Amino acid sequence: MVTLKNNKSQKLVAQKENDASVTETLSNLGVSEESLRKIELTVKKPSGFSFWSAALVPVVLPFVLLGFFLWFMMRGAQNVGNRAISFGQSSATAVDQSKKKRTTFAQVAGNEEAKQELLEIVEFLKHPKKFQDIGAKIPKGVLLIGAPGTGKTLMARAVAGEAGVPFFSISGSEFVEMFVGVGASRVRDLFQKVKRAAPAILFIDEMDAVGRHRGAGLGGGHDEREQTLNQILVEMDGFEQNDNVIVLAATNRPDVLDPALLRPGRFDRQVTMDLPDIKEREAILVIHAAKVQMEKDVDLRNIGERTPGFSGADLANLINEAAIFAARENKKKVAQRHLEESIEKVILGPEKRSKVYSKKEKELTAYHEAGHAIVAYYTPDSDPVRKISIIARGMAGGYTLKLPETDKRLHTKTGFLSELATLMGGYTAELFKYNELTTGASNDLMKATKLARRIVTQFGMSSLGPVTYGQAEHEVFLGRDISEHREYSEKTAALIDEEVTGILKNAQKRADEIIKEHSDKLELISKRLIEKETIGQQEFADLMGGIDPDVAKEEAEIKPAV
Ligand code: ADP
Ligand code: MG
Ligand code: ZN
Repeated sequence: MVTLKNNKSQKLVAQKENDASVTETLSNLGVSEESLRKIELTVKKPSGFSFWSAALVPVVLPFVLLGFFLWFMMRGAQNVGNRAISFGQSSATAVDQSKKKRTTFAQVAGNEEAKQELLEIVEFLKHPKKFQDIGAKIPKGVLLIGAPGTGKTLMARAVAGEAGVPFFSISGSEFVEMFVGVGASRVRDLFQKVKRAAPAILFIDEMDAVGRHRGAGLGGGHDEREQTLNQILVEMDGFEQNDNVIVLAATNRPDVLDPALLRPGRFDRQVTMDLPDIKEREAILVIHAAKVQMEKDVDLRNIGERTPGFSGADLANLINEAAIFAARENKKKVAQRHLEESIEKVILGPEKRSKVYSKKEKELTAYHEAGHAIVAYYTPDSDPVRKISIIARGMAGGYTLKLPETDKRLHTKTGFLSELATLMGGYTAELFKYNELTTGASNDLMKATKLARRIVTQFGMSSLGPVTYGQAEHEVFLGRDISEHREYSEKTAALIDEEVTGILKNAQKRADEIIKEHSDKLELISKRLIEKETIGQQEFADLMGGIDPDVAKEEAEIKPAV
């Protein structure tokens, strides 16, 4: 700091460099030594803060920034962890048990045996003491097995509704989707929570997502699933007799479940949900029809008869489609024909009336479909033809709808061979009429090949005899088959291929014979199809029986006039 002579109040301030003395600096600036001697020098140390900050900021700042950055990252990661855990805690949702929304057994049609079995479970939860007093062990796990849409989830909800206890529901895939390690902790969490709420039911839907065979797969996210599964096993083993918690699980693939899950003490009770039979189908239709406005004369029994193979979910869907269909026509109520139309929609997808055919394509489709129908008509044990149409639907360009008259549990070899010939009917008709093949038959051929292969490898209906080869169902998507050895030799594989080809060629030959013999019918049906686009069951039967329904109708109309 320099105070100027001429103006005492004015001071000049300069920052001294650290490594040069004041005198040095001043003399450098041209101040003489004498005048320097006259000056009173006070050296003032820079205040601690500014000194240290000047010295340290350049060194420390990068570390601070780095540290902050790391902290920020960690916080982010931790948040994910937190979320995973809280998600785990909340994802098992307790189902609304209020009176109004409660699902009961009354809402599940059919499946009486399953209901009976599950009623027992309800009983356990309601009166555990009764069973404990006598020394009976309460089951820990019940596995619901059934095809998709047979009402497993619905049934589980009904159990909860009937038992009147807290019901926790979680889907298997929810376990799996999180990071390694978290799946297991979520299981732990969940079981804790359920135990606290005991007596309670824990429902794990789509169990196969977690419960597949351990050690089967292509690695990757797989370890996670194993840990999760292990944790479920550990938790189930840890249940005390008086925990009063029952684990209910549902799957449509019991064959892929880890055997450890099915051991006594775990999911030792298995309840099967079957596809509904006629009576049950009607009952399911009644349940769902109650939710929509129906005409009085609707015949649900008839719809039930016409829907073999439909699952409960299909039937619920059918009613809904019919309601949508009626609403689109601005009708107030659903009529029988809406329901009938919906059957086909559920089976085949919506009609594509807008799809424009060339004349040639339309003709070809007509011959193709007529080919199927005629072969079906002349082969034994075939399901009756319900409808033939050349209006595109879903994936199909045209279709021949056949449905069995009754529910079939068993199929005959004769039936299969007729089915194969029928599948070949379209291909053969194209070949017969145009001496040319189109891509239109590829789906038929695929179905036929699949069926022929099953005839040989699963049903023992070929000359290879009563042996099955390989697994009933393939699950390549999990890599199980890829890593698994085929259970038969190359030689057998070649024999199977040969056998399958033979069966298919025979089927085609049969179709060919039928079409050649009845080429007049082929002409008749396809002409009618080109003209009308669809032929119903009765009309088809009449045409094949030599009655022309149109002529018959005209005659009937004329008669009263006479
Ligand atoms: P899953 O879990 O077996 O695949 P869901 O329980 O989800 O099948 O069934 C789907 C829907 O189908 C149900 O919500 C219900 O509307 C209907 N459904 C299925 N089975 C039945 C049944 N037995 N009685 C009444 N409705 C059924
Ligand atoms: Mg389900
Ligand atoms: Zn076809």
